Amino acid sequence: MKQKPTYKTKGFWAGILLAQFLLFFIFSKIEFVVNLFSSFFELQKGYHQAIFSSLAFSVGDIFYIILGIGLLYFVFKIIKKKSRNIFLLRFLIAANILYFSYQLFWGMLYFQQPIIKNLPKGNITLKETQDLTLKYLNLCKQTRQLVKEDKNGVFMVTNLGSIKNEILQNQNYLPDFLGHKKAVNINAFKPSLYEGVMSYTGILGYYNPFTAEAQYNAELPSTYLPFTLAHESIHQLGFAREQEANFTGFLVGRSATNLELRYSTEYFVLKSLLNSLAEKNPEFAKSVLQNYSAEMKRDRRAEKDFRKKHEGLLDVLFGYTNDLFLKSNQQEGSITYSYFVDLLIRFERTLPKK
Ligand SMILES: [Zn+2]
Repeated sequence: MKQKPTYKTKGFWAGILLAQFLLFFIFSKIEFVVNLFSSFFELQKGYHQAIFSSLAFSVGDIFYIILGIGLLYFVFKIIKKKSRNIFLLRFLIAANILYFSYQLFWGMLYFQQPIIKNLPKGNITLKETQDLTLKYLNLCKQTRQLVKEDKNGVFMVTNLGSIKNEILQNQNYLPDFLGHKKAVNINAFKPSLYEGVMSYTGILGYYNPFTAEAQYNAELPSTYLPFTLAHESIHQLGFAREQEANFTGFLVGRSATNLELRYSTEYFVLKSLLNSLAEKNPEFAKSVLQNYSAEMKRDRRAEKDFRKKHEGLLDVLFGYTNDLFLKSNQQEGSITYSYFVDLLIRFERTLPKK
């Protein structure tokens, strides 16, 4: 009987996969190694984005469809006894390649030094949170008066192209405390082919680590859209954590000359602050909501209507403001949610007092 070469056995590839799990786990604990992966991302991100941005459609979406179909096919073949062995082997090889690519191009970025380390320390007070909420209520009111509306009097994005341009542009002027991630100024925004499904799952957008595309749900109400673009674009810049992408997205949008981007950003900040106050001081949160301008109230209603229209089983599973990789990285829940507000308030402390 002829002996099979080792690399053709299932045991070999299962062992390699296990070794990968262990190795990347250990890597994630070593700052020096994580920095190496960050540097690698920095080095390749421009090329990675350039390759796929040249194609007008979302390559990442197609890739996931093929992956899904492939998985079904493999399962089918593995169930059948005759083809089990060879397809199990192929499955293990594919899993190894995918897992390795994911970690190499993205996964390790979740272990970069948190931004909060570079911001002022000290406890966050309720008063600070409330003051900032009022500041953003006023900013929203002012900016809202300067943007366009649709026939129902709801905020309407008129030029997505110039929003994308400014998001890319403003990444050149991010503050130093964020570290040194270079803006590559490549327009790799892609409306997702799954927009219908995304609306029902509550996914606003997602970053595809395999194709480096910033996918967004083009069906979203205008209030969500510009800030979602900023958020996904920040993932492309090299920030993996959800709340840090929000925070850096906020830095990109907060003083944008494009008023649509600025309003969407300020409105997102206001909602986040209100959410964080909903438990601590519900009366205050309620009074802020009542003090929305008539225009903002219409925008709020439009968001509610959109959610209601797309309510469903999936919504319960996913929650509303998350995107795809959230669950798998345990980034979800109230703790990380307030991490964004934490960053906001600490950043506010660094600003000159007026
Ligand atoms: Zn995200």
